Amino acid sequence: MSERFTGNFTQQEPIPEEGIAAAVEAMRHGRLHRYNLAPGEAGEVALLEEEFAAFTGARYCLAVASGGYAMATALRAVGVRPGDAVLSNAFTLAPVPGAIASLGARPIHVGVTEALTIDLDDLAAKADRARVLLLSHMRGHIADMDRLMAICDAAGVTVIEDCAHTMGAAWRGVPSGRHGAVGCYSTQTYKHMNSGEGGLIVTDDAELAARMILFSGSYMLYARHRAAPPPEAFDRLKWETPNVSGRMDNLRAAILRPQLRGLRARCAAWTERYRVVEEGLRGTPGLSLVERPAEEAFVGSSFQFLLLDWPAEAIAGLVARCARRGVELKWFGEAEPRGFTSRYDSWRYAPSEPMPATDRVLAGLLDMRLPLTFSLEDCAQVARIIRAEVQAAAQGHQAAE
Ligand SMILES: *Cc1c(COP(=O)(O)O)cnc(C)c1O
Repeated sequence: MSERFTGNFTQQEPIPEEGIAAAVEAMRHGRLHRYNLAPGEAGEVALLEEEFAAFTGARYCLAVASGGYAMATALRAVGVRPGDAVLSNAFTLAPVPGAIASLGARPIHVGVTEALTIDLDDLAAKADRARVLLLSHMRGHIADMDRLMAICDAAGVTVIEDCAHTMGAAWRGVPSGRHGAVGCYSTQTYKHMNSGEGGLIVTDDAELAARMILFSGSYMLYARHRAAPPPEAFDRLKWETPNVSGRMDNLRAAILRPQLRGLRARCAAWTERYRVVEEGLRGTPGLSLVERPAEEAFVGSSFQFLLLDWPAEAIAGLVARCARRGVELKWFGEAEPRGFTSRYDSWRYAPSEPMPATDRVLAGLLDMRLPLTFSLEDCAQVARIIRAEVQAAAQGHQAAE
């Protein structure tokens, strides 16, 4: 009898008791809107912003309604207008091109390498086609940020970072989200902190910060922010910046503040799980691991591997057999967008030139979540099942050739 995994790939940890208590308190006093404050009260949202700014080392921070809203707001703030082209990753999730499209702008997809990071040669070749790059650190894989910033600086391209999968990660000691002009994070349930929905934005640029606060719906109450530039920074901007409401509320911030205090430990726990799966799969014939560079301090909240050049039917069969043994793999090579997986060629509102090297990587790319509710033994078992099934499938499709 072959072993079967019984864990749940979508079950996150509960909210810490401290966060539950803070949320109950906010509900008891009823001041849920971020600007609804008692005399002398800072409010949970303003405190969260201050604490997250300190966590990333940024001067300014703004909490918003979602990660998608964070990206759209950053794009608006750097001046993206309808019809503009914005460079972005071909390998990412739908909210990223969606944020670009929400402004009436047009994504230009940049390819992905076998390291699952943005193809810097392709980026260099396309850098003269747009003024802005919305860079997605998809699934926590961080490109060589030194080279990436050199390419973008030389071409006059402003970088906005999508750090939905890199909250708590760093490249050469610099926190993810702190290389470009603006860093955007999500606090949606499947990310590194969980408030159901939510987003955070960081920047060191006072004018961008002031604009984003006004966009988010500050009703001219920006003086109630703490991780914000001084009121003078808003003098001119308040007349010309439309209100596109997307604030975070005190209830979500109350849940997030204790999670932020525990974030370092949770990131380490994710990466410990990642390493167990990686060791369990190392040396499996036909399966390529994505080797992590020494410069990258990553958070292993999900795991990817490649079955390069496998026939599509063999991968589909493997996914089905792993599913029967309780291991949920997402396949980026599937023709139809399904679950959270979709590809640049699924976003038909943003047509692309063909990218064969990228297509080859996506065709062989498998992905799974590693929730913290998995024990290290769970992770070892998941790896054993995948390894056994990959071995069986590789023998099968070699025999068929
Ligand atoms: C989740 C996610 C976002 C944004 O998330 P929201 O659901 O809008 O909070 C952005 N980029 C990537 C890669 C994501 O996975």
